[in-house]
Amino acid sequence: MKSIFLCAINNLRSGSCSEDCKFCTQSIRYKAKIQRYRFKNESSVIKEAQVAQKNGALGYCLVTDGKGLDDITTEYIAKLARALKQKLPQLHLIACNGTATAEQLRYLKANGISSYNHNLETSKEYYPSICTTHSWEERYKSCEAVKMEGLALCSGGIFGMGESRDDQKSLLKALYSLKPESIPLNFYIPNPALPITQRTINQKEALDIIKETKKLFDKLPLLMVAGGREALFKGEEKLMFEAGANAIVIGNYLTTKGQTPYSDRQMLKSLGYKIAMSCYDT
Ligand code: SF4
Repeated sequence: MKSIFLCAINNLRSGSCSEDCKFCTQSIRYKAKIQRYRFKNESSVIKEAQVAQKNGALGYCLVTDGKGLDDITTEYIAKLARALKQKLPQLHLIACNGTATAEQLRYLKANGISSYNHNLETSKEYYPSICTTHSWEERYKSCEAVKMEGLALCSGGIFGMGESRDDQKSLLKALYSLKPESIPLNFYIPNPALPITQRTINQKEALDIIKETKKLFDKLPLLMVAGGREALFKGEEKLMFEAGANAIVIGNYLTTKGQTPYSDRQMLKSLGYKIAMSCYDT
């Protein structure tokens, strides 16, 4: 029986980023109606992680907004990772804090972080159309540093932001060159405050992306359908699992609501899938 890996996200600092990524509600430039706050305190993060673990999450992703790690954020994530590892040693901790140097990544790893999530987002060619304040190359370099430092790399992108088929292929090719351990495929969630107003991908095209990714990355441990799952596959999740996905995010996303973990567990049960008990239990 196929196992599905569950991952949960904790948005630890939200809505104060000065970058101009046209798909992101966390940029201060677009004034999206989202919750904005500084660092969450340790005890609430631990409580939320306990709930996620009870709901079957193996992976727990510690996310902060902003272009990349600075000293304060690095220390905050390292401290949280130490506390979480002490209380919930089975959780596989993933940090997602933007661009990172080798030194910062080494420090996070030494403090309990196992994976680093940094998405390429889209193709190198299309990236200047969706962000002008930093480059795709910076993102790629951070991903290389993740691999160099021996952390598992979780890297994917967002589809349906107006990119072409060639851009989609180019993104997959770039991801292939990085050899990530996990690829999150996100399907754009439009927000009226953002410059990108529409999702330019339908269910069939999204399934084609999942199939292409599965085919290209034959031995990929984790192929995750992340943001946009509800919009494209609600009630038809079987299609994405049959296309090759074996991981999902449970609970809420960064600034949008997801299904309840209970309804996702029920959905998996009704489709005859079991929930993975270890990261590579596929
Ligand atoms: S750098 Fe990250 S948090 Fe900031 S706007 Fe871009 S995607 Fe959003």
